[in-house]
Amino acid sequence: MYIGGAQVEGEAVIDRENPSRPNRPAGSVFAASASQANHAVDVAHSAFGRWSRYTPEDRATLLRVCADAIRHQADELGFTLATELGKPLAASIGEARFAALYLDLVADRAPDLHADVEITNRFGTSTVIKRPYGVVSAIVPWNAPLILAMLKIAPALATGNTMVLKPSPLSPLALTAMVGVIADNLPAGVLNVVNGGADVGAALTTHDAIRKVAFTGGLPTARSVMRAAADGVKPVVLELGGNDPAIVVDVANLSDNDVSTLVQATFGTSGQVCIAVKRIYVPHHQVMLFADRFRASARESLVLGDALDPTTTMGPVVTQPHADHITALVEDAAAMGATVSRLGHDGDRAADGYFVEPTLITGATPEMAVVVEEQFGPTVPVLGYDTIDEAVAQANDSDLGLAASVWTDDRDEALAIARRLEVGTTFVNSHNRFGVNPGAPFGGTKLSGFGREYGDVGIEAYLQIHAINTPASRIAEGYPDGKDST
Ligand code: NAD
Repeated sequence: MYIGGAQVEGEAVIDRENPSRPNRPAGSVFAASASQANHAVDVAHSAFGRWSRYTPEDRATLLRVCADAIRHQADELGFTLATELGKPLAASIGEARFAALYLDLVADRAPDLHADVEITNRFGTSTVIKRPYGVVSAIVPWNAPLILAMLKIAPALATGNTMVLKPSPLSPLALTAMVGVIADNLPAGVLNVVNGGADVGAALTTHDAIRKVAFTGGLPTARSVMRAAADGVKPVVLELGGNDPAIVVDVANLSDNDVSTLVQATFGTSGQVCIAVKRIYVPHHQVMLFADRFRASARESLVLGDALDPTTTMGPVVTQPHADHITALVEDAAAMGATVSRLGHDGDRAADGYFVEPTLITGATPEMAVVVEEQFGPTVPVLGYDTIDEAVAQANDSDLGLAASVWTDDRDEALAIARRLEVGTTFVNSHNRFGVNPGAPFGGTKLSGFGREYGDVGIEAYLQIHAINTPASRIAEGYPDGKDST
């Protein structure tokens, strides 16, 4: 753990196994007690005064140094991430590099967003100033820990907040190391990391000095986080799960590159991505054509194996229970009459790794669990539709509303369909990380959460607004008799 700029030990240890080869440990971190977590918040609180008084430009300069330091460590961080999570090495290194890039982007943009705004009208003049909240806690899941943490670290620190961050016990190693790299380049106490499970997370949502909670994870935990934050009236950002639909307008118009993008957007990180493609809608009469093209592309590109093997393009899933859950969803669909095709092929694959074969499910129907639930694994159902209206209705028929995609060469048609989708992001001819624009806001609707990351709004989320009003006259306008209400 890093608290107050120093590495800190705890009484307990979290041992993380390697999902590609569970008999080989990935590494360990110390677990914080609740009192250590509270202490970390106190330390971040002490660091806040000084850090918030740095100019935005000075903070940006320091954060660019941190971004460089992460880039220099990207290979090591990626190796650690691949080992603890089973995400293929190239993608893991890419995640570390993208985290550094995002830190740079925020450092470049944040100073402009601090600027005061003057409002002058017949009621007077107001100066709107923006300032940080104080200590922000960040609680993140296991599936993309470096970037999901950076979406909180970068904007919170750039705007003058300090932070205590908690990784998931399922992927604490690379993230703790990345925080160490950042913390080493910042004043002590500005960024702290404590490891642990629900007890540590609970401390980070209830401590009096926490002024905002940024959470990414699952719905049941989000409900606990929101309840805990309610007592202290702490604002929360909740980035939760998705059950992303991809609507293909005409399979014949998909290029081979489009099909390959759809495959990667479905099976990257073994489908364990909030914005993975999780349901595919194609015209009824083109389901077989689509399935043939999708299978051919996936069989060519998906190599299932150890995340550290450079030939691997799809690693294991994170734990055996998660593998069992995905397998059960596929078996359930098959039992209800769907056809399951195995995709990809085996590379160097340990028998005891938590591997789940990538599959395509045709003949899926809307009531199947694999359609209704976020499967968060390497399987995807294909559903037929007759009209675009029907496709949109089915896509929206979900409690979740994170992202979606529309596949057509006609941009006007894509926009028209996208406007009808109940999601926070729609990708056109793209999906998942292939479509992310760090300059555009990202977040969910419905049970996928609220609040936005990325974009200006994802930075401004860490600034509070304070309006300083100088009225034009002491008599308030608008009351019927022209007199002040008091
Ligand atoms: P999770 O909800 O189990 O855990 C998330 C974090 O919360 C972990 O650090 C966990 O230790 C912590 N936690 C557990 N109990 C807590 C409590 N009572 N108080 C505070 N913190 C607590 O989620 P997970 O299984 O790690 O992640 C998978 C989920 O995250 C999926 O649903 C996925 O879709 C979602 N996700 C969403 C996004 C997004 O940006 N919308 C991105 C990635 C993942």
